[in-house]
Amino acid sequence: MSETATHECIVCDSDRPLRHERQSTEFDIRGEVVVVDLPVKVCEECGTIEEEEGVDPANMAFAEYRTRKGLLSPEQIRNLRKQYRLSQRSLAVLLGMSEATVNRYEGGGLQTPAHDTAIRACENGDFVCSLLQQHGGKLSKWQRKRVKAALEGQTRPQSKLARALERLEAPKEPNVLNGYRHFDRLRYAALVVWLCRQLPLVTATSLNKLLFYADFLHFKAESVSLTGAAYRRVQHGPVPSEYGDLRQFMESEGFVRTKEVEYQNGHTGEEFHPGPEAGQLGVTFSAREAKTLDAVASALKDCTPSEIRKRSHQEAAYCETGDGELIAYDKAAELSLSVPG
Ligand SMILES: [Zn+2]
Repeated sequence: MSETATHECIVCDSDRPLRHERQSTEFDIRGEVVVVDLPVKVCEECGTIEEEEGVDPANMAFAEYRTRKGLLSPEQIRNLRKQYRLSQRSLAVLLGMSEATVNRYEGGGLQTPAHDTAIRACENGDFVCSLLQQHGGKLSKWQRKRVKAALEGQTRPQSKLARALERLEAPKEPNVLNGYRHFDRLRYAALVVWLCRQLPLVTATSLNKLLFYADFLHFKAESVSLTGAAYRRVQHGPVPSEYGDLRQFMESEGFVRTKEVEYQNGHTGEEFHPGPEAGQLGVTFSAREAKTLDAVASALKDCTPSEIRKRSHQEAAYCETGDGELIAYDKAAELSLSVPG
């Protein structure tokens, strides 16, 4: 079936057959002639030419000019920024640009040669390190931590992580701080993967609290934790005591992957998803453990990360523990969640 597309021609003022064409168009960019084959639609009746919707002629010309001059593409700029887990604002602060400028470049605007050089220099982690030393004070504490972690992730030797994990799994007496279970990193990773699969959204904000609920609820029901992780009270809520090392372990093994997302309010966050190796974990939860997990999912699946955080702040286990201290599992008795009969 051949179909003749019609559209309302602005000159004929009614629906007309149209054909799609490419029209060679000249642009003057910084004193140079740039020729672009612009996609256009032509009215078969009167010959009027209109731009195709969704095509930005200037952006096409900029792309051509960038290729000619060897300038970074908008995607390259964005990827470079994300490599260091910087927001647009933070990259702008470090490089002495405005946030609007970085936003424009990532959206297809044409960068100045000087800005291109400055952004490209960030390919070198040492350069970003020195920017951080000079201007890091102007970033939020949270953002500073993220860049530093990203820089460390690039250079941190794997052996350091291995030693941290060994310490974590070193035999400890089952006690009230590990929920009377020896810590097992694979069970921990399996729990994270399970949460990522069962809940519509797992973020950096919600993950630590979800783990806390799963471990503490299982202790409440069965007098033993799920993973053997110890949890610490910090300002943001209860967190597994070595969650940074554990995250690095899970990511480097491909059990989970994280994705940076930008929200409409300009904030950035991270989402957790099962990684390509998640199927290789080889951990199965018992029927009783699955009951605990189902109870956590059904109670919290519709809560936003900030609702989960707020709820965790009201738990006796959190309220009755000093700041920075490990949370005793026996406080799980008063947890606001229960495993149904
Ligand atoms: Zn027409």
